[in-house]
Amino acid sequence: MRRVLMGMVIAMALLWGAQSRQSVWKRGETFSEYLQRYGISQDLLKSIGDDDSKYLSEIQGGDPFYELVEGKTLLEALIPLGEEMQIQLLRDLKSGRYRFDIVPIVYKKVEDDVLVRIEKNCYSDIDRLTRNPRLGFLLKRLYKGSVDFRKLHAGDRIAFHYRQKSRLGRPWGQPEILGAAVEGRRGKPRFLFVDEEGNAWRDTHKTVRITKTGKKLVEYTTTRTVKVRGSAGRFSRPVPGARITSRFTYKRWHPILHRYRPHLGVDFGARRGTPIHATASGKVIYAGWMRGYGRVVKIDHGRGFVSLYAHQSRLKVRRGNYVKRGQVIGYVGSTGRSTGPHLHFGLYRNGRAVDPLRYMGKSRGGVYTTRRVTTHHKKMKTYTKVTKKTVPIKGAAAMKRRLERVLAEPAAHAYRWDDIGKNLLYVEDRAKALEAGEGWPASQGQALPQKVSGKN
Ligand SMILES: [Zn+2]
Repeated sequence: MRRVLMGMVIAMALLWGAQSRQSVWKRGETFSEYLQRYGISQDLLKSIGDDDSKYLSEIQGGDPFYELVEGKTLLEALIPLGEEMQIQLLRDLKSGRYRFDIVPIVYKKVEDDVLVRIEKNCYSDIDRLTRNPRLGFLLKRLYKGSVDFRKLHAGDRIAFHYRQKSRLGRPWGQPEILGAAVEGRRGKPRFLFVDEEGNAWRDTHKTVRITKTGKKLVEYTTTRTVKVRGSAGRFSRPVPGARITSRFTYKRWHPILHRYRPHLGVDFGARRGTPIHATASGKVIYAGWMRGYGRVVKIDHGRGFVSLYAHQSRLKVRRGNYVKRGQVIGYVGSTGRSTGPHLHFGLYRNGRAVDPLRYMGKSRGGVYTTRRVTTHHKKMKTYTKVTKKTVPIKGAAAMKRRLERVLAEPAAHAYRWDDIGKNLLYVEDRAKALEAGEGWPASQGQALPQKVSGKN
């Protein structure tokens, strides 16, 4: 049978001269190699503009395309670049020169209601009825999670409505199923509706999430720990690490005078010659002998504070000097009225003696103490609010009525596409070239009407 058919093809081709055929672009073949195959000059490549030349690399190996050939001469090639545009390689009838162009693909749209009755296997049943093999797989994909197509039984029916581009009498590109219903022997039909984005839904309504994003003013507080310069840490210890031998008091027993006396300072026990450091920065307002206190330095720190360092063995600063916190101002001794080497340290605020330890940090020399600070803020903040809303799928209600009417019909039916295996096209002759027909190559400059080799 096949041999007979082939014989007919050759006979027809000889009779009519030109033959159109669907070919498959060889994997890895370049456009330049394709030209070479038909002995077409490579000069053609130079005539392709920079903008168009990029499309040459868009040709996909394995993709079908159309050729119109006469003997070994290529008259025209139409190579699709997606579903809408194609490369046209056209031989001028008179000069024999080739022209390169990118032109629209001519197609029409077919819309059809299909009713399939399952006999054996739903894919082969749909394919046999429609001769559009992509439909079965598309239906299966749309019904995924809802109907298992492998479990359909003989006698079950599928109704669906779909759109398909049609080119040269064959399905072109991807089919678009807009609605479907699967009806088992028992139970209600299971409907499916497809929205504009191609999503399938089981109901005529869908629940959509509405995400609203905006800005709003929010108030919040933050609590953090900060270092603060507090009065407790304003003054550092003059002899770091030294032991306190006598604290500040307004009344204490004086071991030398044998009576009660106030002690208006703090004594730090240390060896003779231990360096004494300025408790804070300031100006030396006194450096010299002061009766019972022996060798003394007084420093004015501002804000009414004055510090006093008594019983020193040797002074290191002079009146009028500016000293920094921690700077050595002299050395521990036992000058004046003293029982042994130590530093008597006095602190005065606005001329009145105060307890120095109340103004000193616990850590050695620390000016800073930590405090927790709570801050109130106002800020424009982005917020996102998600709500759900039920919206009708456009046209779904009408689609449901339509599918119900299809299911009410008794017999299976469908638009029947040509059998791709038999669909070889022959061009009658060049004289009728200007008569336009459907599809290729009607719109392509030289219109060549076609004749289908066989009828289904
Ligand atoms: Zn003292």
